[in-house]
Amino acid sequence: MSLFSFAKTEFRNLFSKPVTRLYPQEPRIYPERTRGHIENDMNACILCGLCSRKCPTGAIRVDRKEKSWAISRFSCIQCGCCVESCPKKCLSMKQAYTQPGAEKKTDVFTKPEAESKNAS
Ligand code: SF4
Ligand code: SF4
Repeated sequence: MSLFSFAKTEFRNLFSKPVTRLYPQEPRIYPERTRGHIENDMNACILCGLCSRKCPTGAIRVDRKEKSWAISRFSCIQCGCCVESCPKKCLSMKQAYTQPGAEKKTDVFTKPEAESKNAS
C-alpha cells in the first residue's frame, strides 16, 4: 500500500512543474506587501529626526549638522514604525531584502546641497 502511494507521488512529480525555483537564474518575485528594506527620498526628507525617535531598535541616526540620515541595516527589524511616523512620507519599504554580509553595514545618505539650504 505504501509502495503504491509512493509511486503515485513519483508519477505526479514527474509530470508536474517543480515547486522550487531555479535561483538565481529565475529572480524572486516578492509579494506586494513584502517588508524588505527601508529607503529614504532625501530630496523630501527634512531631517526632523522623528523616525529616529520612533525606531524601537535605534537603527536610524539623523545628524542635522552633517545633513545626513543613516540606517544600520542589520539593526532594522522591518517593523515599519519609521515609515508610518514620517511627516514628509519620504520613507518607504522596498521589496528587496538587504544583502547578507559578514560585517554590520550602515548606509548613510546626505541631503543634496540645493535641498539642504531649503530644509534648515
Ligand atoms: S521622519 Fe521623515 S522627514 Fe523626518 S528625518 Fe525621518 S525620514 Fe526625514
Ligand atoms: S523599520 Fe522599524 S526597526 Fe527598521 S528603521 Fe524603521 S522603525 Fe527602525
